[in-house]
This record gives sequence, C-alpha cells and structure tokens, in this order.
Amino acid sequence: MTPALAKAVFILLAIGWYVIRRPHARRSRRTPVARNARGAREIALLLASLTGLGIIPLIYVATGFPDFARSSFGPAQAWLGLIAAGAALVLFHLTHRALGRNWSVTLEVRESHRLVTEGIYGRIRHPMYTAFWLWALAQALLLPNWVAGLSGAVGFGILYAFRVGQEERLMIETFGDAYRAYMMRTSRLIPYIH
Ligand code: SAH
Repeated sequence: MTPALAKAVFILLAIGWYVIRRPHARRSRRTPVARNARGAREIALLLASLTGLGIIPLIYVATGFPDFARSSFGPAQAWLGLIAAGAALVLFHLTHRALGRNWSVTLEVRESHRLVTEGIYGRIRHPMYTAFWLWALAQALLLPNWVAGLSGAVGFGILYAFRVGQEERLMIETFGDAYRAYMMRTSRLIPYIH
C-alpha cells in the first residue's frame, strides 16, 4: 500500500459512511420524538467528534496540513487500516439496520421506541460506538500524521466519554428493569470484555 492509496481508503471510508447513514438520517427527521436530551452539551460533543473524525483528517488528505506533524508511513500498518475501515463500515450498516427508527444522532427517545437487544445488539450495548472506534483506529493506521491520525480517537473519545453513561441512564429511565437486565448480560463495546 502507498500513502496515496491509504488516503483514498480514508476518503472511501468517509463516503461509505455517508451513503450508509443518509437514508436513516432522512427517515429520522420524520420520526416523532418523545423525549430528548439535546442542548449545547450534545452539540459540543457532536462537533468534537465531527472535527476529529472528519474535518481534521479531510483537511490533511486535501492539503497535507499540518506538515510539522508528519510521521513515517507503514505499508503493513495501512493494510490493517483498510481492514479496520471495512469492519467499521460493515458494523455501521448492521447497527443502523438493527436500530431502524429507534436511531438518533443525539440522545433521544422516540414515540413507540423499542429497546433493541437482539442480533448485533445481543452481546454488546453500543456496537455503533464500536464502529466509530474502528473508524478512529483506521484513521490512525492510514494517515501518517500525528495530528490527523490521532484526532479521531481524541474527538470521538470526548463524545464517547461524556455520552455513554448519560445514554444508559436515559435507557434505564425509559425501559427500567428491561435495560438493567440487558446491561447484566452485555458489555459496552467488545463482547465478553466488561
Ligand atoms: N449506543 C448505541 C446507539 C447509538 S444511537 C450504539 O452504539 O449502538 C443513539 C440513540 O440510540 C439514542 O438516542 C438512544 O435512544 C438509542 N438507543 C441506544 N441503545 C438502544 C437500544 N439498545 N435499543 C434501542 N435504542 C437504543
């Protein structure tokens, strides 16, 4: 793998992500919301994630900025990045399909929200966040730049750290013991790792 090819893989990851999400984002606008935890905090978290996973690496791919943070390119590393990117897209697609109308980009509960606990949600509670971590990993492996490579893990890490506990509290408030029981038999991101 060459550096140019690795950049192309990153662009394809971003395009694939957009194509998978688009129909869900459109349907989501038409699905009534019962409760939401939106606000300045959620917007700040989404911005941190978008900046780290999207804006910074895409500026790097387009311009090479920031040049001072250049690091050495590893072809084997980039092949692993390609595998991580492919896994991220597959998982992203599966989680969107499983959540259906229950998905929101922010923390929300829909009218007639259903708790999804089967399939890809059978062993882990946050497989979509696992997919985002895989994106951040792919970014770090594909882009030979300390800033553009690691900004994804930092940006998404901020969103994840501030959101996941709040999301689980919202789910407990909404689904009570059903979610508590679900928590007992699942882990957050990686099966069997509590
Ligand atoms: N954290 C999950 C979902 C991310 S989307 C994951 O990583 O896969 C965020 C929205 O999903 C939240 O607004 C919440 O209402 C909803 N949600 C989270 N877990 C859910 C579940 N098990 N079933 C149904 N909806 C869920």
